[in-house]
Formats: sequence, C-alpha cells, structure tokens
Amino acid sequence: MEVFQSHRKSSSNNVIVSILPFYRSAPPLEVRLEDFEFFAMDRLRVLKGISDGLCRGKKPEEMEKLVVDLWKANMRHPQAVEEVNKDIISHFVLRLVYCRTEELRKWFLSMETTLFRHRFRLESSEAQRALMSEFKLPYKAVSNAEFESVKDKLGQVARSMGQNLAAADAIFYKVPFEEVPDLVSGRRVFIHKGHAYVAMNQVVSLVVTQFRSYISKALILTNRKWTSTIREQEKDRLTPIVEALCTSYLGPDYSQPQEFGEISIKDIDQVAKTSFPLCMRHLFEKVKEDHHLKHGGRMQLGLFLKGVGLKLDDALAFWKAEFAPKVSAERFDKEYAYNIRHNYGREGKRTDYTPYSCQKIISVTPGIGDHHGCPYRHFSEENLRAALVRMGVSSRAVEDVMDKVHNRHYQLACTLTFEAVHGSSCDAGINHPNQYFIDSQRVLQSKNGSVA
Ligand code: SF4
Repeated sequence: MEVFQSHRKSSSNNVIVSILPFYRSAPPLEVRLEDFEFFAMDRLRVLKGISDGLCRGKKPEEMEKLVVDLWKANMRHPQAVEEVNKDIISHFVLRLVYCRTEELRKWFLSMETTLFRHRFRLESSEAQRALMSEFKLPYKAVSNAEFESVKDKLGQVARSMGQNLAAADAIFYKVPFEEVPDLVSGRRVFIHKGHAYVAMNQVVSLVVTQFRSYISKALILTNRKWTSTIREQEKDRLTPIVEALCTSYLGPDYSQPQEFGEISIKDIDQVAKTSFPLCMRHLFEKVKEDHHLKHGGRMQLGLFLKGVGLKLDDALAFWKAEFAPKVSAERFDKEYAYNIRHNYGREGKRTDYTPYSCQKIISVTPGIGDHHGCPYRHFSEENLRAALVRMGVSSRAVEDVMDKVHNRHYQLACTLTFEAVHGSSCDAGINHPNQYFIDSQRVLQSKNGSVA
C-alpha cells in the first residue's frame, strides 16, 4: 500500500514545514469502509462548525480559534502521517458527497476554502512560501536590499490602513499590479514600475483564490465521474454511504435520558414551559388544546419525551389523559398504545427508537392538520413572530431570529432563541431538540441551584 503524503520539506534541512495539502489527487490508499465513512463524518463536523461560525457572523480572529478547536477535536491523530491521510481521505470522500448538486458544491467549496484560508494563515511563513511555490504562483519575495529601499513607502501604506510595518518579519511579494485590482483600488498596496508590493497577509488571498478555483473545477469533474461511472459501479457499497452523508446527523442519539435522568408527569407542564424547544412546545400545546395529534406529531413529541426521561408507563398515562376528551380508554388501548410501546422498543422488532434530530425534523413536509416539523422552517412569519414573543423573546432578538430564518439558517434561529430566552450563550449551536432540553436544564440548574 502506497501512503500518500503531502509533507513539504525545506530545501535547507529536510525538515517538514507543512502538512497542509492541496488535494490534487485521490490517495492511492486502501481505505476500510468504516474509515471511509467515519473520516468523512469527522471532517463534516469541522465544516459544519465553520458554517455555524460564519452564519453567526464571527470575526476573523474568532474564526481562527474556532477552526483550530474544530480541527483539534475532530481531525487530530497522534501520528502526523495518519492525520495527513485522514485529512486527504476525508476531503476526497466529501468531494464525492458534495459534488452532486449545485447547492451542495457551493456549500462545500465555501467551507473548504474557509478552512484552507485559516489553516494557511496558521502555517509558518516558511511553510507558506513552500505552499505558494507548490501552487506555482510566479511571485518572488522582495529581497532585503529592495525592502530597505522602499521601506518608507511601505510604512506609509501600512499606516494609512492603521497597521504597523513590523520590519523584522515583513515579507512582501512583487506582483503585477493588474493581478490585484482590489488592493489597488482600495489603495492598500504600494505600486512601483508596474508592480504592487503585496504583504504576506495579502498574498493569502491570492493563494486562496487559486485553491478555490482548483477545487471548484475538481468538483465539476468529480460530478461527471460520479454520474457516469462511480454511482452505478458502487451502488451496493459506497453509493448508499455517499448519498446519506450530506444529511447525516453527527451528534449523540439521545435515545436514553442523559444527565437529568427521568421526568415524571407532574413535572412535564413546568419543563415544557422552561426547557422545550419551540417545535416540542408547539406540539405539547397542540395536544393539550386539541386532545389529539396526528401520527407525525405523536412520533416527534413521543420520542423526544422518551429522550428527556419520561418512562413508558408515564408516557402511556400522559397520552391517554390528553386524548381522553376525544378518545375512549378502550379505543386508546387498541389504536394508540401499541405505537407508544413500539417507540420504547416493547413491541415489533423491539428496536429502541431514537428521538429525531433537527435535521430530520427540518426536512419533513407536514401536511394539512399536521403540527410536527420545525416552526422556524414551517410556520408563517406572523405565527413564528407571535410564538417567539410568547416564549419571552425580546423584540430586538426576534428581529435577529427572523434574519436567520430569512436566510434559511433554522438551527441558528433556534440557537438565538435559546440564547435570548436563557440569557446564556450556546456556542455549539442547537442540533437536536433533546440537546436544547439538556442545555436548558443545565443553564437553569446553574442559575437556581436546582433543575426547574
Ligand atoms: Fe426544534 Fe431543532 Fe427546529 Fe429548534 S431547530 S425548533 S430544536 S427542530
């Protein structure tokens, strides 16, 4: 087995200076099927984290820290070679996953470019130069003598942008001025004899542009190969994994109640008010109001309640009592109790069914008379605004939430609601209704010294 590595070595001492790859060719490695999937899921956690950070409007320095943390948490391996291989394999798997539609390609390209930009910035300047020569960017670093001759001019430009010219580590490149029109028009470079003197931190943009254009073309080519051969050839092995990966939920399954143990029927009204996300609060209110819920709603709320710790007997008692005004006890036992026991793994295949993730809830299409789904996606604007106000969200925060909704960032809208209601940040973002519940209980416990 040939191991594909992308280490670059400095010409002087053969020391590895960078492990940031350009993903030029798929690695000639044998990859176990589990690794194929798990590596891709780990990278997806990084890309989704970046996507959340961007949607939240994080500043460049905050993004830098976020990228470092995400990479450390998901992609690190004690052996550098393994880390590089995981990096490359996961990129190529996700290339297959995200090459298949225009929308998927756009998202992947944007996240991979952001990841590359920050990883590039974190490299030493020696490694950055090695990477630049690998991209064959035809720019030469300005020599010391030349730097000294134009230092004052460069200093003036730097000061005009509110920066200092730190001579000790200032590296500039001479670039034909027409290649950096944005820097020229923004007066952010010194120009002399047709050349712009571009600082290292500005060169990053040029490298990233090259990277972006290369990956963009590669995605189109991968899509052609996928459609013409790979999809059919791999229909029993890779294709199902590839097709499932872009919608896969990456967090815990919450099928068992976690740190807050069980809740009983007597607590349920109270915790619904304080700790249910809007999707579950809505279903809970509807079952109380209508004394009935259609199948989709019963599944969404029922599995959520199981995940927050409502035991089977309590669940049966809860649904029976709520349905009582419309459904007789006999009919309930005959038509509804089986499904509830089924969800708890006591009937049928005895599978312990897992509560639905946000991704799953957001992707459903509720019909007329259904109340399940995600309110941020499925409510009308008017209904959503009214529901947010009922939850105690301030009018300013409502506007922020609606802004995310308009941009179709539903989970982020839910995260902002959580933060507004609890007065506490939720950096990980909301990915699962049961996570919302647990995070809420945690905040309330730390505020009150006891769970609400
Ligand atoms: Fe529920 Fe998730 Fe939608 Fe929030 S984002 S309302 S938790 S489905």
